Amino acid sequence: MSANPMNEERLAVTMSLYDKCWELAQNLWWSWHPDVIAMFRDLNPERWRQLGHNPMALLKEFTPESFTQRVDEMVLGSRINFAYRRLKQYMESRPEWSSQNVGVLGSKPVAYFSLEFGIHESAPIYSGGLGILAGDHVKSASGLGVPLVAVGLFYDQGYFKQYLDASGWQQEEYLKTNIETLPMKPVLDGNGERLIVRIDTETGAIFARAWHMQVGRVNMYLLDCDLPENNPDDRTLTSRLYGGDSRTRIRQELVVGIGGVRVLRALGIHPGVYHLNEGHCAFATLEVVRCRMEEDGISFDEAVRQVAQQTCFTTHTPVPAGHDRFSPELIQEHLAPLQRQLGIDFHQLMAMGRERVNDHQEYFCMTVLGLKLSRHANAVSCLHGIISRRMWSSLWPARPENEVPIGHITNGVHVPSWLAWQMQHLFDRYFDPNWIDKHWNAEVWQKIYDIDPGELWETHISLKTLMTEFIRRRVESQSARRGEQDSVAMNPANLTIGFARRFATYKRATLLMRDIDRLAALVCNEEKPIQFVFAGKAHPADEPGKRFIQQVNNLRKDPRFKDKFVFVEDYDINVARHLVQGVDVWLNNPRRPLEASGTSGQKALLNGVLNCSVLDGWWAEAYDGSNGFAIGTGTAHANVDTGDTRDALSLMTVLEQEVIPMYYNRDADGLPHLWIRRMMNSLATLAWRFSAQRMVADYVHYSYLPAAGGVTCDMNFRQ
Ligand SMILES: *Cc1c(COP(=O)(O)O)cnc(C)c1O
Repeated sequence: MSANPMNEERLAVTMSLYDKCWELAQNLWWSWHPDVIAMFRDLNPERWRQLGHNPMALLKEFTPESFTQRVDEMVLGSRINFAYRRLKQYMESRPEWSSQNVGVLGSKPVAYFSLEFGIHESAPIYSGGLGILAGDHVKSASGLGVPLVAVGLFYDQGYFKQYLDASGWQQEEYLKTNIETLPMKPVLDGNGERLIVRIDTETGAIFARAWHMQVGRVNMYLLDCDLPENNPDDRTLTSRLYGGDSRTRIRQELVVGIGGVRVLRALGIHPGVYHLNEGHCAFATLEVVRCRMEEDGISFDEAVRQVAQQTCFTTHTPVPAGHDRFSPELIQEHLAPLQRQLGIDFHQLMAMGRERVNDHQEYFCMTVLGLKLSRHANAVSCLHGIISRRMWSSLWPARPENEVPIGHITNGVHVPSWLAWQMQHLFDRYFDPNWIDKHWNAEVWQKIYDIDPGELWETHISLKTLMTEFIRRRVESQSARRGEQDSVAMNPANLTIGFARRFATYKRATLLMRDIDRLAALVCNEEKPIQFVFAGKAHPADEPGKRFIQQVNNLRKDPRFKDKFVFVEDYDINVARHLVQGVDVWLNNPRRPLEASGTSGQKALLNGVLNCSVLDGWWAEAYDGSNGFAIGTGTAHANVDTGDTRDALSLMTVLEQEVIPMYYNRDADGLPHLWIRRMMNSLATLAWRFSAQRMVADYVHYSYLPAAGGVTCDMNFRQ
């Protein structure tokens, strides 16, 4: 490029386009705006994919000259300017909903604590459902304008990357995340120095620093321990999510809970409400109690009363073994300094985490602490509410089970993050303008019945074709890594069933495979073939879960299942997005009632995918007979084995008698009208209800405002 004045001037203009791109990349707002994503991608589609959809990493590869050239070539200037203006407008405006609904939260925000946040695949600080729920919560709080700050940990290796070896056994790989390409800024204290918080234990202090991440209007603070002040072991304390033993775990929980509260205070943020997403973060309550005693000169009992009033607690786990429990020794080592400051003895401290306060053998349970230190507790679906009240009834011995004060707010998903833009464009043409801002109102979705069935079907098929292409690419590269030459040719015309989630055994990924010959008959049926796509990680310590993966993966070696059964490795937000947007049916067959809510089926339904699910979690309250398919009847099983057998039979029956015939029942125009009708029913009855925006609005009304001392409203009585 020659250096004539014209060019220099143009360079200056485009430099500012580069700066605008850079600024857009600094706020994860971009991650739920398909047109902004497309703009980044168009800068270099191939690198975009290779860099894991990370705009900062992509932008760093450009020189000013190559950027200018590319922007000119692709005529990106106006798109960059437009995206930038929209971000500015978004950040400067306050949604009407918030002016009318957040009341007292305006001056005292909600502090939302979570051990993981799934915002986008380029920020690998999540493992699965819990984290993605937290990410969707934050994005929706931003959308509604709920004053909320998020607190979590930064893991420089995050959760593991998964690949399978030649025998189909899961291998874990931990990659170090490059902080330089994440939109994180160091948090500074009042003197412009790096903010560092110190947490004392009986065996020395742990130091943590904080990072700031901007997620739309929400400020997120992430702590990590990779500091020279720490001893070498503690420097890697926050390297991995769910890695290490229970000592690592309690130390991580100490950092997020106690460290998190200290960071907020150092920043001058005084929350009106503390929301604990699962028990992991419950130590936060003890630190807030300590602060109250110190600042207001009140007694321990009074401080506990006040803090409980301000604290909201969400439990996610209907399995007793799924709750963190720590030995008295670990509690002693890590909480004795705080216990002394609280002016209580060790027994009193342990009692806060015990169901039977005088049982000196009992471990300290984080969920029990969360429940005892909060006046506003909820489960994550109606059925999970019933289970949770039963599970924790011993904490309220004077109350009948149905009056145990644990309500429910059913989970939802962040619609702009999970709805395919192709579907969104289709809805745009039929729905009211700006429907997306009001998408959690039922009326919006009545218009779904105005859509031409052929158009809805075509949009679905084009998404399915894109997914098929994605699977082909992934399978090629994963078998190349194994030194195999496997390819997979899924046919977009075939009924395609997706199953992707953590490979926890209660989710029963192999339920389908109990009668292999019966399944093979379905898969090989020439007229009405079906095919399956699976994905999911097992926890590194979960051998039975890994065996399930192996079983599912190796089925492709049976010639009858060639091209009909694929396992896509390394399930993450990106894989999830492709699958929930591209399959025909989303399969979910957990052992009832162990799925507290489940959210992947909600992502699927937004895209016109029909759910075929056990009546557990959210589906127990969503299914109405005409908006998807049910496996089993939702009645209790005498025992696990007979339950599994019955559900396996029921699953095959529903596939054979309902799903497959309806899918292949075509009219003269080649369309499956009954199926399309069901897609419409699913969208009309469910898309608004299972939106995270509805969920966050419910939290505001039934949990946050009561906690902040506004109106009270009992969650138990809402339906
Ligand atoms: C949505 C999602 C989950 C949670 O799905 P469930 O249905 O709740 O099991 C887990 N992992 C990823 C990557 C997801 O996107």
